[in-house]
Amino acid sequence: MAERETSGKADLGRALLCPSAQPDMPGAHVLGVVTGPVEAPQIAYLDEPVPVTDAVTALAEPAHPADVMRFSAPCEERKCCHFDGQRCQLATRIVDTLPAVVDALPECLIRSECRWFQQEHRAACLRCPQVVTRNHAASELMVSVARVALSDADAGQPPAPAPRTGP
Ligand code: SF4
Repeated sequence: MAERETSGKADLGRALLCPSAQPDMPGAHVLGVVTGPVEAPQIAYLDEPVPVTDAVTALAEPAHPADVMRFSAPCEERKCCHFDGQRCQLATRIVDTLPAVVDALPECLIRSECRWFQQEHRAACLRCPQVVTRNHAASELMVSVARVALSDADAGQPPAPAPRTGP
């Protein structure tokens, strides 16, 4: 299990960005592009903000945009199956379960607003590049990390959106 940083209190009271969002979410921007082999994908983070437009999503055709790009968008909190009311449990599972794949913080435009970073700090960034939002070749480990949390009904929350196919 990864060692958690305890310094720096997460500022979870302000609007934060989900770094593995869907392209049709309000305010979505392209965060990066999937590169590398199918069995070991790596995100190449963009160095300028690119809002999602029809022209951008058309670049992915015939694939789904989230197969080949990562998107950021304002965290939907309780509308998302990974949010437990205070924290993103997907970020927690990523840090607890996946190996680090880089030794230094990736150059990333959204760090000051990223929920995963605010919550899990550096450990999230060292694991983030391997995450593909819709990963059709996901390993068993990745599938277990991406799993949908216990039903929101169990937690007394409204129903979650349809499960995503990846983190
Ligand atoms: S976890 Fe780190 S590298 Fe990934 S999107 Fe957030 S700030 Fe960027």
